[in-house]
Amino acid sequence: MVNKIKLSGQIKQQLPAELVNFMQAAGKIAASQGQNLYLVGGVVRDLLLAKANFDLDLVLEGNAINLAKQLHQPEAMKLTTHPHFGTAKLQWDRWSVDLTTARSETYPQPGALPRVKPGSIESDLFRRDFTINAMAVHLNPTHYGELVDLYDGKDDLEHKLIRILHEKSFSDDATRIWRGLRYEQRLDFHLEAATLKLLKRDISMLATISGDRIRCELECIFKEELPEKVLRRAEELGALARLQPSLRGDGGLAEKFREARQSSAPDLPPIALYLSLWFYHLNSAEIEGLVYYLRLPKRVAQPLSDTIKLKAGLDSLADPGLKPSRIYWLLHGFSPVALTANWLASEAPIPRQHLQLFRDKLRYVKSALTGDDLLKMGIPPGPKIKEILHHLHEASLDGKVASKQGEIDLVKGCLKGSPSPPT
Ligand code: ATP
Repeated sequence: MVNKIKLSGQIKQQLPAELVNFMQAAGKIAASQGQNLYLVGGVVRDLLLAKANFDLDLVLEGNAINLAKQLHQPEAMKLTTHPHFGTAKLQWDRWSVDLTTARSETYPQPGALPRVKPGSIESDLFRRDFTINAMAVHLNPTHYGELVDLYDGKDDLEHKLIRILHEKSFSDDATRIWRGLRYEQRLDFHLEAATLKLLKRDISMLATISGDRIRCELECIFKEELPEKVLRRAEELGALARLQPSLRGDGGLAEKFREARQSSAPDLPPIALYLSLWFYHLNSAEIEGLVYYLRLPKRVAQPLSDTIKLKAGLDSLADPGLKPSRIYWLLHGFSPVALTANWLASEAPIPRQHLQLFRDKLRYVKSALTGDDLLKMGIPPGPKIKEILHHLHEASLDGKVASKQGEIDLVKGCLKGSPSPPT
């Protein structure tokens, strides 16, 4: 059953020595207790692909929480346990290791969370999504580095194939549909023919998945290098229509996402920006439906709704003769996401120019004088100060003053001339 291919070389070459030492120590303790410990999942796949991945998932045929406690160095590491699931997490420096009790899963009904009970490495691998994610590496000293590949995952990696393990896989858990598209596009692989057929057959099973779980999948997609590829493929295979029939994954989206990445570099664009661009052409009822179904958190829902509010008001920016101060007052309350999304997604040239002027310049304009300066100039405390500051800000925006002295002169002129400066 155990394939004799050894990955000890890849482990030593590709993983940091600290993690290798940790795994070896863990393997020794497991063996001394008569248990088997394995490295599993994505990190094994990425070891074989020579891609960097330091998120270790360890599976123990035994109590993973006890093992985590034995490995825990309280002065240096943080230990989190979930006794109900038999899982533990150890975190230190920049490392994070998940330890899980090997388990088998059964699905009481499609889309429901599985029933879980302790099991063997074989059953643990059988519950996984794709052959390329269902490989393990033995970590006990006498078998160290041996690849456990019960479903020919290595072969599928070599042939660039995404293949499910059994024909009920997508109906048991339709999130695997989104996961499959994500791996296919990330790795430039293909869904294997029978898997593709089953995915199409089971596409309606996406309706059995809660909005929360779909949101998690979308969050993973938006962390990919090119999420637009996954959305395009999802449209092609009918997954987008299951989420919202008006959603599109093609055409201009790739261009807009690319620009969003440029404008957010070196960070990834916030999810709210990706979603604002993706949902831009939907009407408000459709967007509200998605916000509700996906249970988008406020930090995402708020800028999204701001984007739509700004889109609805873009007409007020359509006059080419608008003064900069007017543009400023129309736009200053909107979130950066709403400004960027409308700038990238709107097709109205004048509003886009005004948005660009605001983003590049106007939002940074400040007057040189402060309230303290005005007090020192003898203006008594009270609403007058606010009024004058407002006036100075407008004058700076409209290019009527460009220096501190110019502002002082303006204030003096105002005080001499009209008691209340025009706003
Ligand atoms: P990534 O590189 O995207 O992080 P990963 O393979 O580490 O990929 P995770 O989502 O962290 O993915 O999941 C860890 C492992 O758990 C996967 O490799 C897979 O074996 C298994 N897994 C995750 N989600 C599912 C699922 N819905 N059904 C079956 N197995 C799953």
